[in-house]
Amino acid sequence: MANYNPKSLKAEEFISHDEILKTLAYAEENKNNIELIDAILEKARPRKTDTGYHCEGLTHREASVLLACEMPDKIQKMYEIAEEIKLAFYGNRIVMFAPLYLSNYCVNGCLYCPYHLKNKTIPRKKLTQEEVRAEVIALQDMGHKRLAIEAGEDPVNNPIEYILDCIKTIYSVHHKNGDIRRVNVNIAATTVENYRKLKEAGIGTYILFQETYHKESYEVLHPTGPKHDYAYHTEAMDRAMEGGIDDVGLGVLFGLELYKYEFAGLLMHAEHLEAVHGVGPHTISVPRLKRADDIDPDAFDNGISDEIFTKIIACIRMAVPYTGMIISTRESEQVRAKALSVGISQISGASRTSVGGYTSEERPHDTEQFDVSDQRTLDEVVRWLMEMGFIPSFCTACYREGRTGDRFMTLCKNGQIQNCCHPNALMTLTEFLQDYATEETKQVGYNMIRKELEKIPNEKVKKIAMQHIEDIKNSNRRDFRF
Ligand code: SF4
Repeated sequence: MANYNPKSLKAEEFISHDEILKTLAYAEENKNNIELIDAILEKARPRKTDTGYHCEGLTHREASVLLACEMPDKIQKMYEIAEEIKLAFYGNRIVMFAPLYLSNYCVNGCLYCPYHLKNKTIPRKKLTQEEVRAEVIALQDMGHKRLAIEAGEDPVNNPIEYILDCIKTIYSVHHKNGDIRRVNVNIAATTVENYRKLKEAGIGTYILFQETYHKESYEVLHPTGPKHDYAYHTEAMDRAMEGGIDDVGLGVLFGLELYKYEFAGLLMHAEHLEAVHGVGPHTISVPRLKRADDIDPDAFDNGISDEIFTKIIACIRMAVPYTGMIISTRESEQVRAKALSVGISQISGASRTSVGGYTSEERPHDTEQFDVSDQRTLDEVVRWLMEMGFIPSFCTACYREGRTGDRFMTLCKNGQIQNCCHPNALMTLTEFLQDYATEETKQVGYNMIRKELEKIPNEKVKKIAMQHIEDIKNSNRRDFRF
């Protein structure tokens, strides 16, 4: 059995099965240890500093004890602390994005995904560059500025050159006042050389879900295709960082394996990135297995309840306080609302999980990767967020200003969010309201913006933001962000 070593570049050493089992045993032994649980909760709490807030985070062992704890009062405490952390580092902003499916050709055999090679009932489709343009125009017309592109793994149909062409096309489309300012990429594990090409193409975050950290299950769930190689897949983020990509996004597909195992593995992966590259994951996504063509989620017996799902999110929030957390439209409005309060900082809106879904009227689309629970329009999601007190943000300034990787983390740790991300969120929200919102949403939005401007601590920043917002309202646009 491989020894646990977070600094190792070998998957079996930084995600040591033995260490996960020891962690689960330790968590089980201590799940009623009130003294220890209180100490861990205290450690997780954000502390005020001269420049902002500081949070220590938790180790995978500590966070696993919290996840195992079933005492209702302690769980309530976890939710409160998770919310405090979120407010300290992210404020009440929620970053908006949409997925864009480029191709569902895939040579892998993933048992939980309808795009798997042996599925003969799903139509296969790959967007041409003209179709990419049309999809991007449809997304821009909703108000989206940030996309996550998705494609199956297929070296013949979706080679890296195709992905690079699509990125170029996406950045080149400027429809009315629209543009896509950040393209995140969710494609299969690849080589350092290809990651370098993605970096040069100007991508934001490289996202790759581990699916499951349990090696044996991983190999069963991925019986055929290049994705079968557990080590190659698990070590992908190290290659991405070697290729110059600063921001990487982790995630597991909850429902495939025992959630406590996945949780420990996910945090060990984050600790490994921090230990080797000096910066942890930029984001963590928390997808849950959903129904889709050829896939029945009941065939997998590790499904988790909404309560456990919420607890997982709160525990991740406490363990990695500076990492953004993403939830998709796989989840219903109710689940998303609860998740937002305990740590989620990024959500998708009005998503289509099919190839060509934004330009097709047909619903559900026959190339859908999974069922979308939240079917509201972007305008509705934006209004809903504001009515709950969140500021939907369309800002991509950090990426454009080169504040990625550890530079973004420094900004976050210094508590400069209120003087930087907060006004940027308000300015980009104003652009959205002016260009794309319904009258009802506009009204809710402008009321919120007025109140939120008052919260900017630095008077000079406040004044500039107010002026800029007035300018946007008067159709006097300038490319300006803090
Ligand atoms: S999960 Fe990804 S790699 Fe697996 S079948 Fe689906 S598209 Fe292909």
